[in-house]
Amino acid sequence: MVVDWAPYACMPDASRGRRFPTDEAPTRNVFQRDRDRVIHSSAFRRLVYKTQVFLNHEGDLFRTRLTHSLEVAQLARSMARSLRLNEDLVEAIALAHDLGHTPFGHVGQHVLNDCLADYQPDPALDTMGFEHNFQSLRVVDVLEQKYPHHDGLNLSFETREGVLKHCAVARARWLEQREPHGVGARFLSGQVPSLEAQLCNVADQVAYNAHDVDDGVRSGLLSLDQLEDVPWLAALLRDIRGEHPGLDARRTLYALVRRMLSDAVYDVLAHTNAQLKSARLHSVDEVRASAREWVGFSPDMRTATRHLKAFLFARLYRHPQVVDNMARAERVMRDLFTHYRQQPKALPTRHRQQAPTHERAVADYLAGMTDRFAIAEHARVTGSALFAAEA
Ligand code: MG
Repeated sequence: MVVDWAPYACMPDASRGRRFPTDEAPTRNVFQRDRDRVIHSSAFRRLVYKTQVFLNHEGDLFRTRLTHSLEVAQLARSMARSLRLNEDLVEAIALAHDLGHTPFGHVGQHVLNDCLADYQPDPALDTMGFEHNFQSLRVVDVLEQKYPHHDGLNLSFETREGVLKHCAVARARWLEQREPHGVGARFLSGQVPSLEAQLCNVADQVAYNAHDVDDGVRSGLLSLDQLEDVPWLAALLRDIRGEHPGLDARRTLYALVRRMLSDAVYDVLAHTNAQLKSARLHSVDEVRASAREWVGFSPDMRTATRHLKAFLFARLYRHPQVVDNMARAERVMRDLFTHYRQQPKALPTRHRQQAPTHERAVADYLAGMTDRFAIAEHARVTGSALFAAEA
């Protein structure tokens, strides 16, 4: 197959390689292999029972972290092909990007960060707090144990670079000490990641902006009428109703979500192509050194998505029903942290051996749990079933 990559795409033969040298596979390039390793990981399978916005047991029709990750991968692949970037690499990054998410979405991350902050770990031994991007890297570098001679999935530099989307300076220094000129370096030098990594970032936003509207309306927490408060969506709804008078609400919603996705994708492609054309980049190293993000929304689409995010934040993520569930989820996570903090032997041996401090081992164990396992475990150790009514 002739692959027509742009000169600034990540070429598999020019990969900066894996941390542990390994033989080449006969039929798959380095990024295809990374993708396969991610799909076969235990953390990937657990994404199916982890909350995106709606708790996993609230219904089978809402996105979970797994279906979200698949949608991100699909969007990223389709945009990568059009931009002549590396589809296999974006797929590997997209499928791995949320592996470090805790149960119950952001609330889980918040609780673990809070709990770990109390213990002021020695920075020489441990990193501070909890952050899901950093945890995603920890999953692929350490916590997956599939190989006889090393921890982690031993993914390529380029995939790991994309997985570590954000990183605080303190954590980047910690990484840099262990892996000089590695995936932490750019957060200290101000460089940017590959275009494939930048693309996955944007695909993530395209995906959740659209699917949160979809799930929000189908759950009954949002109405189509409320969506008219967002100028972008109001314009799309006007078009849909003009073209299809009398269309029922369900099909109107699907038409809306479809148009949101195409609007966003074509905007990213047009804006990014225009930027790359003027940039005259010749290699991924030039991309990294440029210290500029090249893949993204046009200024108009940035404004449109900013309005949408503010709307979703106020009306969906802070909806009383969501907030109530999250309050209970917070209790589950805090109680479980306290339980395992006080009872080291209750923690699986593997976790005790993998982490530099006991508190980090507890956080790793809790972060890896699915929503339903955390709920069941909480009921078992405390005797109080916080989610009994819905389960
Ligand atoms: Mg995501």
